[in-house]
Amino acid sequence: MATVSLSNIKKSFGRTEVIHGIDIDIEDGEFIVIVGPSGCGKSTLLRMVAGLETVTEGEVRIGGKRVNEKEPMERDIAMVFQNYALYPHMSVFDNMAYGLKIAGRPKPEIAERVAEAAKLLQLEPYLTRRPRELSGGQRQRVAMGRAIVRKPSVFLFDEPLSNLDAKLRVQMRLEIKQLQRRLGVTSLYVTHDQVEAMTLADRMIVMNAGRADQIGAPLEVYANPQTEFVAGFIGSPP
Ligand code: ADP
Ligand code: MG
Repeated sequence: MATVSLSNIKKSFGRTEVIHGIDIDIEDGEFIVIVGPSGCGKSTLLRMVAGLETVTEGEVRIGGKRVNEKEPMERDIAMVFQNYALYPHMSVFDNMAYGLKIAGRPKPEIAERVAEAAKLLQLEPYLTRRPRELSGGQRQRVAMGRAIVRKPSVFLFDEPLSNLDAKLRVQMRLEIKQLQRRLGVTSLYVTHDQVEAMTLADRMIVMNAGRADQIGAPLEVYANPQTEFVAGFIGSPP
């Protein structure tokens, strides 16, 4: 577990500034949802925490340490994407083990970590299957497994459920929340779905065109929106 601090984070692509200065101090074990319409900068913000984009201005700290100059692999984070792209020719076990193999972890440790994650995710019966032999929900769990085995201090999710049908999305949403509670890993979760945000978040960041219009607990934001944009976005039907 670790705290995550963003101080006056800005991002420009060329001359265009797309993130205009975002501040938040995230507590150990907190579940933060970054929510807002398409194009408002959610992925860019998350990718700066991950180290997949450079920060134009401001500071990212994980566990109190500045990480602006650190590579993604050095950041003690694990990311789950929308297009989680499992390796089709590898078994579930190998898909989950891959990152650890690359990192040069010893075999017995890899086996133990994968077994542990498989148990947690109810994937034990499927470890020898290929991804195409799994349901959408199971594939999503494998993607989660890949993140869990690394034992990161921070989970980063970028719309991890948006390729799933509505029913499965609700089920997986609950699973992610339960898992996060159980592991207590500090999490940043991006979605454009305000219902998903309201359900999952300890606190949510409502983004509007590169700014954090409001940061707060879901009910607080719902009951007391600070801008017209927030009122419209949170109040509007899904
Ligand atoms: P969201 O995830 O909320 O849909 P993004 O973070 O993907 O939004 O994008 C925010 C803005 O930054 C958009 O205007 C997008 O076009 C722009 N953008 C994102 N990535 C790049 C890039 N690599 N180069 C130029 N512009 C980009
Ligand atoms: Mg995005």
